[in-house]
Amino acid sequence: MAVPLTPPPAPAPSSPDPPLFPPLHTADILACQFSHWYPLFRRISPKATVIRPIPQEDDFVEYLESDGLFLPEGSGPMGLSELSDSDSDSDSPSSSTASSTDGADGRPTPSPRQRRQFSFPHLDAEIRSALARYDGAVFPKLNWSSPQDAAWMLPGQNLKCQTPADVYLLLKSSDFISHDLDRAFDDCIDYEPTSPSLAGLSLDEEEGERRRRRRWSFELVLKKWFDMPRSQEWRCFVRENRLLAISQRDTTFYDFLQGEQVKANLTTQISDFWAREIRDKAPLSSYIFDIYLTRDSSRLFLIDLNPFSPRTDTLLFPPSHLLSLHLSPSSSPDLRVVES
Ligand code: ADP
Repeated sequence: MAVPLTPPPAPAPSSPDPPLFPPLHTADILACQFSHWYPLFRRISPKATVIRPIPQEDDFVEYLESDGLFLPEGSGPMGLSELSDSDSDSDSPSSSTASSTDGADGRPTPSPRQRRQFSFPHLDAEIRSALARYDGAVFPKLNWSSPQDAAWMLPGQNLKCQTPADVYLLLKSSDFISHDLDRAFDDCIDYEPTSPSLAGLSLDEEEGERRRRRRWSFELVLKKWFDMPRSQEWRCFVRENRLLAISQRDTTFYDFLQGEQVKANLTTQISDFWAREIRDKAPLSSYIFDIYLTRDSSRLFLIDLNPFSPRTDTLLFPPSHLLSLHLSPSSSPDLRVVES
């Protein structure tokens, strides 16, 4: 066998795969605030009121971040605050409603540590006026998240709020809301929360410094409440302006969503809606949006716009599958439902 005089050419360097998720910037997070995307899509989104800035914003954030479960004065149904007399630092609703007059002689037990009282009369009034406009019930969220993890706090085990107190109770009990308050920009490649360092500051000084550095206002969003069957909700994945995938949002099996024809019809209806109503107005090129299809399948509503990032649950599509859809030339999105 002849020995080659020159070494064989080195294989062409293969370009590395793009990352599972596109790099996340603070601008992406800001674009996904409700008050940023909602005006673009008001026509196709359920009615909502945005309170921004929140009256007494610093006090309100301090209230949400303070220990214990208690309500601001005057936030209950008739201006009462049912929980505000409680002496509880517990997260349990039953213990927080316990009367503070539980000393042996029936007189109030003194609190071990005096708690600051809060009251938000202007915010209460804005919430009451939204309730009046929306037939008495609203769904609350802050800039990005709703307090879904705290739904168990209300009697219906959902986020249907009928008084300012309901809104405060949910927001104050939720870890998702704490994330909005403190860590909204954590995964952004251009966000440096610790420079210059906060080390050496007292807790109060650190809190004040964090507020000074904050580059956005908090907002309280009150959406008109409506019963939305989970089986009618879909999460859609767009990367670089291409609709890649559509996932059933609830991970329960539904018989009526089975069958190739049903899935093909849904894919067409949702893709057309995206192309007609969302694609050209979207503030980002990569994003994940949630929609609701009415029971009679006649209308679609945009419910939420989220960053295309690991913090948004990819539901029935593992991130690696979303990446392969992104790399494949197919133009039709992949739709998945829970199968038996
Ligand atoms: P998050 O950003 O916390 O996911 P969403 O606005 O997307 O909050 O709402 C989460 C879920 O709450 C939705 O999937 C839907 O089931 C329900 N939901 C959203 N808006 C409303 C509303 N206006 N009325 C009743 N339920 C709602």
